[in-house]
Amino acid sequence: MFEQRYLINISNQVILLFFFATVAFSHPVGRPQWGFFAHKRINRLAVFTLPPEMVGFYKKHIEYLTENAVNPDRRRYAVVGEAPRHFIDLDAYPDTSKTALPRSWNQAAAQYGADTLALHGIVPWHIQLAKFQLTEAFKARNARRILKISADLGHYIADANVPLHTTRNYNGQLTGQQGIHGFWESRLPELFSTDYDFFVGAAQYVNSPQKAAWRAVFDAHMALDSVLRFEQELTDQWGQNRKYGFEERNGVTTKVYSDEFSRKYHDRLRGQVERQMRASVKMVGDFWYTCWVDAGQPDLTKLADFDETADDQKAETEEKRSWLKRLFNVRSED
Ligand SMILES: [Zn+2]
Repeated sequence: MFEQRYLINISNQVILLFFFATVAFSHPVGRPQWGFFAHKRINRLAVFTLPPEMVGFYKKHIEYLTENAVNPDRRRYAVVGEAPRHFIDLDAYPDTSKTALPRSWNQAAAQYGADTLALHGIVPWHIQLAKFQLTEAFKARNARRILKISADLGHYIADANVPLHTTRNYNGQLTGQQGIHGFWESRLPELFSTDYDFFVGAAQYVNSPQKAAWRAVFDAHMALDSVLRFEQELTDQWGQNRKYGFEERNGVTTKVYSDEFSRKYHDRLRGQVERQMRASVKMVGDFWYTCWVDAGQPDLTKLADFDETADDQKAETEEKRSWLKRLFNVRSED
């Protein structure tokens, strides 16, 4: 959820590098990444849905799960195969029925080829893979992997619940509504999520993770029409001048959607952003819990002493640094 699908070309890699070096990896400077804020919030809140047998371990590592909720976005341009895991362009397929768009990866890949699937995004399939990986990590009692994959899985689930992650028109670029992606998933939570009710109840076992992943993207896709239509209607009514305003952030004046326009839009969406965030929190908790059950409910108190060693931390810092380095080698997608 909550980040834009920027295309890279050679000339902006340096800017991206600067962004990653300054914003993503250390203290936020420049424009805050509210998308990052929402991902972190979702992973954090999901911890509190877990049953007593799990909650101790997850609470102990809640800072890790929060901070690393955005790893998949940090590495999306650096790690081959990462980018398509965050979205699916459902409208790229003339027919999305089960037979036309198989719900299992193997069948879908046999029908379309992995390259075509990657082109249009693979988030619902990738959630299934991450679910399998997390279950395996629980079986292996591997605390480090449990935390790492829990953080990642939370990210992909949150992305799957964002309407603009289910369409080719992901930033309103096909309908003259450029900027709507960040508006919906960053600006609106930034302004209004403190009033949201995030009590979603206890995590529940998911009988079919495959169905749940697909339901999430189809539900998000059903909300897409309102996302685009209401923004257009308000723009027509209000005009460009009242639509935008300026805000100073860290000494830099930035053009943003005005508070008034944002509020009108948010009102018109009638709790949609809140619903999608709540759905994400619930689904993340449900999936973490399901993986633990499917692994035979291992005793997590035995893992409770786990702490990252200095070596672990060093390895992680190195890995993040390598995402940066590889950015320079990304080929242009233009
Ligand atoms: Zn993402």
